[in-house]
Amino acid sequence: MIVKVVVDVPTGGTDRLFDYKVPVHLLPMIEIGMRVIVPFGPRKVQGFVISTSEETELETVKEIAEILDVTPVLTDELLQLGEWLTNSAICFKITAYQAMLPAALRAKYKKEIKLVDQNRILEIPEELRVWFEHRDVVDWEEFKSNHVNLLPLIKRAISMGVLEAVYVVKDKVTYKKVKVVEPFCREDLSNQLMHLGNRAAKQKEVIEYFIKFPTAVPITDLIEQAETTRGTIKALIEKNVLVEKELEISRDPYANRSFKRTNPLPLTRNQKKVIEPIYHTIENQKHETFLIHGVTGSGKTEIYLQSISKVIGQEKEAIVLVPEISLTPQMVQRFKERFGSLVAVLHSGLSVGEKYDEWRKIHNGSVKVVVGARSAVFAPFKNIGIIIIDEEHEATYKQEENPRYHARDVAIQRASYYNCPLILGSATPSLETYARAKKGVYKLLSMLERVNDVTLPTVEIVDMREELKSGNRSMFSKLLFDKLTDRISRGEQSVLFLNRRGYSTFVMCRDCGYVAECPHCDISLTYHQTSRLLKCHYCGHQENMPKTCSSCNSEHIRFFGSGTQKVEEEITKVLPGARVIRMDVDTTRKKGAHEKLLTAFAQGKADILLGTQMIAKGLDFPNITLVGVLAADSMLHLPDFRASERTFQLLTQVSGRAGRHKLPGEVVIQTYTPEHYSIDLVRQHDYIAFFEREMSVRKLQNYPPYYFITIVQVSHPEITKVIEVTERIGSFLRRSLSDKAIVLGPVASPIARIKDRYRYQCMIKYKNEPTLLAVLKEINENYKRETQQGTLQISIDKNPFVLM
Ligand code: ADP
Ligand code: ZN
Ligand code: ZN
Repeated sequence: MIVKVVVDVPTGGTDRLFDYKVPVHLLPMIEIGMRVIVPFGPRKVQGFVISTSEETELETVKEIAEILDVTPVLTDELLQLGEWLTNSAICFKITAYQAMLPAALRAKYKKEIKLVDQNRILEIPEELRVWFEHRDVVDWEEFKSNHVNLLPLIKRAISMGVLEAVYVVKDKVTYKKVKVVEPFCREDLSNQLMHLGNRAAKQKEVIEYFIKFPTAVPITDLIEQAETTRGTIKALIEKNVLVEKELEISRDPYANRSFKRTNPLPLTRNQKKVIEPIYHTIENQKHETFLIHGVTGSGKTEIYLQSISKVIGQEKEAIVLVPEISLTPQMVQRFKERFGSLVAVLHSGLSVGEKYDEWRKIHNGSVKVVVGARSAVFAPFKNIGIIIIDEEHEATYKQEENPRYHARDVAIQRASYYNCPLILGSATPSLETYARAKKGVYKLLSMLERVNDVTLPTVEIVDMREELKSGNRSMFSKLLFDKLTDRISRGEQSVLFLNRRGYSTFVMCRDCGYVAECPHCDISLTYHQTSRLLKCHYCGHQENMPKTCSSCNSEHIRFFGSGTQKVEEEITKVLPGARVIRMDVDTTRKKGAHEKLLTAFAQGKADILLGTQMIAKGLDFPNITLVGVLAADSMLHLPDFRASERTFQLLTQVSGRAGRHKLPGEVVIQTYTPEHYSIDLVRQHDYIAFFEREMSVRKLQNYPPYYFITIVQVSHPEITKVIEVTERIGSFLRRSLSDKAIVLGPVASPIARIKDRYRYQCMIKYKNEPTLLAVLKEINENYKRETQQGTLQISIDKNPFVLM
């Protein structure tokens, strides 16, 4: 039997299927979708079995070396999906398949240098000989840690044929194990009890414990429950009364938390109207994509929960995607409370092992629901009944590295394979999605009021230019300051929102205007107060705060802008009594910190929650009655055609945190451009008006949803090379595509240099370009040799979300 394998060598030349023979002893085990280890050139690599065949056209075929899985890790459906992904995201097959699996299942290789024959040890250079005394194999890392560079000698010995470089695949899967003890023979316990003398009272207590609870128990638990010691247990093990074993356990990050069960709420009239067509598709096993356009607090999550119940009732499974930052414990809790242990959770806060354990529960069918961030869209369920994407407009659903997929597109593929509904939910749908819903491609379901007559908060907009004119130099307008004071005196809570970490805390010279920039990237450095360092957020470069301007030597160089730290300081100055919890990347780096801070706020331990993007979503605390936005325009001026859309979405989302329960909410938005429609329309909670307005802008500029966009970006350490290649690509595109396609560029990318590599790009705007895929593939093919060497990089992004 022959198997066709995709090998883990991500280059253009190896992006195809390779034939291998299956040795007789592996024949009973092998299945499509399994990971195998195969010889490939001089090394051994991991691969996926894609298909089988009786024959091969090749004369000599190598044998597979090993099978890594007991059951296939990729189902037929996922194998097919990988094929689709390879084409639509223009990536290597291996990259597509690996994206579907948890990191723990991806191959790691160890390089070893092997002495071909101990009898020939004298033939290798003298300096190397000591390394191979009494052994044939030396770990490559050992050589690397040597202070003298042995590489040239090793290379010579390899070319002489006395040494050999071998690659060993390390299977990273680790199971968490725990030491347990159990009775050697249960029936014999009372007997043992009698035979123990009176001096062994402690041992007797342990035996009595096992007579009551005769099952295996972790040693640490036994010590606690039987109030005994390690020594006593050891003595019983030595007497063969107890035996010690290792048991594999599953790491459940939510294991030590208890959830009280909730029941489905009786739906409101509007909710019933919305859930009706969804039920209909579930019952009739029909694929359809729905857009629930529902304001914050309109009861979307309850719709999700009850649709999932219906699906579980049919013995099917559900995938729920939420953006990473709204994957808060609060959010997870709502699913766990409804479906208990049937829920797996996948997000980036989990360790590699924890993620693998959650994945295993999905793979072996012990859970029915997965709640997770973007990559959970690949959850290996075999009978999907519904896919839900909450906050569908979020940019995090687009992966910004290979494979550059959008979770929405993957979800559509999977939902249509399983004939089930896909639900997109948002208070501020992306323009693309809403336009499709209007055209009837998706079915539009609207929920424009909050549940239980809770009113949407009143939004006031403050023109900060006026504040400055009237002599207020503080970062708080008079209105916001008064309202904050008022809340503190009433014992109600406020949320202060500031876009982005260390928002424009750049360092500038007051005399000459010089701004400190990263020496490797064309971007200004950010000042971090706790470490007193200037850091680059793109490459990690850091340096000390300069004492003088490097351009004019002036001493008047300081940091500007208002990061969360600065705001915190200001609050302590102007509102000395206020208790503040600050949430940003710096305060939430430690595992569990995010949750701790939110719990403290929920328990009323602070008056003000101050934070960045991560507090914009998912928060649902009854006592929040005021939301303040400090610099609403900070996103508006980014070089990105979605800047207005993002601003409107973010402001709407933040506003939604206020007054979600009995107490009415108020929102104060501070801005320097109050007249801009993306800010003004937030006041009226008018998404539709925003949509119409923004659509007319997009139409004028030939941007999505009127046109599709693809960006081809070239990067290289030398600027002349980058320009030359991008120019050639530009004219190739103009020659190859129809005259309806618009090819722009080459131009420097918005960030023209990152990590010492210059970046140029061409942008293609098109409506219908059947040959585009082939043309883009040809570009990859033409530069294959150069990109494989690594100095030249070409990245092709269909439907880019972050324009950098
Ligand atoms: P969204 O997901 O649209 O923001 P949620 O589903 O979180 O809205 O609902 C907002 C609030 O209303 C929640 O506290 C939720 O428990 C409550 N809620 C939702 N549906 C109902 C219902 N049918 N009856 C009573 N309360 C409801
Ligand atoms: Zn940098
Ligand atoms: Zn200066």
